[in-house]
Amino acid sequence: RKAEGGNGIRQFEPQMLASRKKRTETEADILRGIEENLFEPSFQPITCLRSGQIIGFEALMRLNHPEKGLIPPGEFIAVAEETKWINHAGRQLFSKALSGLCALSRARGDDRLHIAVNLSPVQMTPEKVAFMADELKAYGINANRLTVEITEAVFMEDNQRISDSLRMLKEMGCRIALDDFGTGYSSLAYLTRFHVDTIKIDQTFTKGLTNADPALAARSRRLIEGIVAIARNMDCTMVAEGVEDALQAEQVRAIGVAYGQGYLFSRPLPLEEALKRV
Ligand code: C2E
Ligand code: CA
Ligand code: CA
Ligand code: CA
Repeated sequence: RKAEGGNGIRQFEPQMLASRKKRTETEADILRGIEENLFEPSFQPITCLRSGQIIGFEALMRLNHPEKGLIPPGEFIAVAEETKWINHAGRQLFSKALSGLCALSRARGDDRLHIAVNLSPVQMTPEKVAFMADELKAYGINANRLTVEITEAVFMEDNQRISDSLRMLKEMGCRIALDDFGTGYSSLAYLTRFHVDTIKIDQTFTKGLTNADPALAARSRRLIEGIVAIARNMDCTMVAEGVEDALQAEQVRAIGVAYGQGYLFSRPLPLEEALKRV
């Protein structure tokens, strides 16, 4: 490359080269994952705050790379969404989440456990929903045991494809959860635009409860009280995310949140580990 000069060609900075290399590597990892069926769920328990019983699991995507080990979604989801390869990865994840749910239900000896999966806006297509319906049927799982977690990003593009997909999911009997509630631009507005079953209170609010500054901790508590009041009025169940200590769990329970998820109860687990806990 030429140094920047009269011809307007810019010299590549070393960081630019490094980030391009990283991007290329991420793309290669994703494509290999699709080819070799390497996408799989980690299972994180969702726990009833009153009884302590596990009522279900969130299936969180990992890329199980033969050399690099389990790669977390933070490393590849953005690229997978941008390229739409998330659609292929998401199918692998979904089938394994359902077979995992069957195994977990057998281990527990009942079929009331729920499974939650995350869908990004590019995954909200009628074809994907039809695939999910077929898989549920193939595994003999009632659709009311499936929760689809979406964020406000789904509502940003107000298009037909997405609203059709949401309607199909509801008609099948799936539950819809609003993820990361309270962190978006229009969290409240879309509660009026669609029937949401569950609100997942973002982990920043849960963490705020144990802020070292007691005045700020009190503000977090009052904010969660407000969210709980809204959720009750909207007939939504609630899950507190990011519960890391017993005080946070006790406080959200006292405010009226039914379910908790977080490291206090368990990190996301490979299926074999989850089977021992259920
Ligand atoms: P999310 O849906 O909000 O998932 C919760 C994230 O918080 C997970 O990170 C989980 O491991 C982490 N977490 C759970 N409990 C605690 C806690 O007590 N403390 C802290 N600090 N963190 C906790 P993870 O697994 O790295 O996933 C990150 C994000 O990637 C997810 O956020 C979700 O937005 C996205 N993602 C994961 N799986 C999928 C998927 O299958 N499809 C799509 N489209 N996105 C996914
Ligand atoms: Ca989620
Ligand atoms: Ca979340
Ligand atoms: Ca998130």
